[in-house]
Amino acid sequence: MRQQNRRPVVATFWCMIPMLLVAVLVFNGCGALEEAQKRREKQRLEEWNVSALMFKTPKSKIHTTGDALLSESDHYTLKFAEDLQRLPAFDEIAERREFAVQALHSMESLYEVMYKHFGFHPGHKIHVTLHDMYRGSRLSAFTTIQYQRGMRDGRSVKYIEGIKMDFPMKMYEKHEVRVHELTHAFTNIYNLPVWFSEGTAVLIQTEYAKGGTHSKLSSLKVDARVDINGKNELENWGGHTENSPLTQWRYRYAYTLVAELWERYGADFYIKVFELMEADGLPEQLEDLMPTSVLIYYFSQAAGEDLVPFFRNLYFNVRLLTKADIIKYIEGLNQNRRRR
Ligand SMILES: [Zn+2]
Repeated sequence: MRQQNRRPVVATFWCMIPMLLVAVLVFNGCGALEEAQKRREKQRLEEWNVSALMFKTPKSKIHTTGDALLSESDHYTLKFAEDLQRLPAFDEIAERREFAVQALHSMESLYEVMYKHFGFHPGHKIHVTLHDMYRGSRLSAFTTIQYQRGMRDGRSVKYIEGIKMDFPMKMYEKHEVRVHELTHAFTNIYNLPVWFSEGTAVLIQTEYAKGGTHSKLSSLKVDARVDINGKNELENWGGHTENSPLTQWRYRYAYTLVAELWERYGADFYIKVFELMEADGLPEQLEDLMPTSVLIYYFSQAAGEDLVPFFRNLYFNVRLLTKADIIKYIEGLNQNRRRR
């Protein structure tokens, strides 16, 4: 038997979509981009807008239960939480059915485009629940990866069991929030540092879905904020939901940083990063969030040059890792688990 000693573990990744910032989009110039890359990118953006905004009919078939409380398509299930069923707009079967079919068509369209962008898709269905309020708020959407651990070939590995997304209806209605959360559903199996996970989600939401709740900063160097130890405040982002000026800066700085590398190394850069992490089996191994030095190792591999000096110049406390360091790190994760 390949799996033994399974114990339930639920990892929660979440994010808040702060609604306070007025969007002022400031796009940096793309002078360094090659013409071919520009053309490719333009095509991608056009495809995104066509499929996401005009809701072309996806291939997926949609099934709905008799009471229309649960609907299912190829990549999603969709449920109405009890508090939502009590509202006049969703208390009749026909209303729920009409909404669910349209919602799943729209989410399937987004899924197709996201798959094209990242080059991979989650191996499990995404279970969406729509609420009136979730965790006491109408302003926060959450994406959660559910998994268990089990043994395979003498190693403890992670078995993803499902991806859960919870939206207050007020948030679900915003196209950019759906795109932001779906980005998390695609990338969170990699246990990415919070700054990279959020920066990527804001990049996709802003540049593809045109949902600009966060604007770019004008300079990564000048606009950097450091803590008492002189370390970039982005690295201290543990994912707190409080809507403080520091949180707002973190979203903007993370977005600016992720976009800078994207512009510098091309739209395929992050696809390569995820491919390299997958090849090393990271999604199965990581339990805690990946250290930034590990992430930068993969960035450097994908870029073909050492990016540690770039990050150090921005006050990141990172060091140059070798392949041997990565293997040792993954081995260490395994040993620590066996001791527990
Ligand atoms: Zn987020």
